[in-house]
Amino acid sequence: MQEIKIVGILPCLADPEKIRFHAVIDTDISEVLPYLNRALKAAIYNHQAHTLTIVKEGRLITLYPRQVTAGKIQDEKDARQILDWLKNFINETYQKRETMEPDYQRHQRLGVLEIYKLLPGINCRECGQASCLSFAVKLCQEEVEITKCKRIFLADYTEKRKMLFTLLKDSGYLVPQAFHQTDEGK
Ligand code: SF4
Repeated sequence: MQEIKIVGILPCLADPEKIRFHAVIDTDISEVLPYLNRALKAAIYNHQAHTLTIVKEGRLITLYPRQVTAGKIQDEKDARQILDWLKNFINETYQKRETMEPDYQRHQRLGVLEIYKLLPGINCRECGQASCLSFAVKLCQEEVEITKCKRIFLADYTEKRKMLFTLLKDSGYLVPQAFHQTDEGK
């Protein structure tokens, strides 16, 4: 793999002082994802969807076969440093793959705060929980489904909803079928 090229930069929805970006990879990296998962040990790998989510020093990075999305990035320089690290990591892991066992386990759940920051944050309690944070804890543990939060379906939360549903789906959480085609964040 030679290049990961940034094709879009937007404000981060989870943290307005940061950015998110979308980049494309010049090679299909599906084959190397289980080996990256082995090397990282604490990633969220979804073998069915061919996605690998990494939390790196507070940044949330998701790898797809030919794309990378990332949120909570400091600035464009930080984005480029992350992509340089990723490129080296992917290439080094690919070269070592014959000495490694592929790992198909998910290992980690999403962090509560990763989910919470993409919820409406209005603590309306309509979901039966005392607050959005309580709901995020339950959702993180897969004790409730995202559809219990009716407010997230309001137009005001369209951007957050798309990003949250993409994050949940890519991390192997249950998401309504109607939202499986969203390309938010990519
Ligand atoms: S229904 Fe949604 S907005 Fe209301 S408290 Fe629950 S998670 Fe928060």
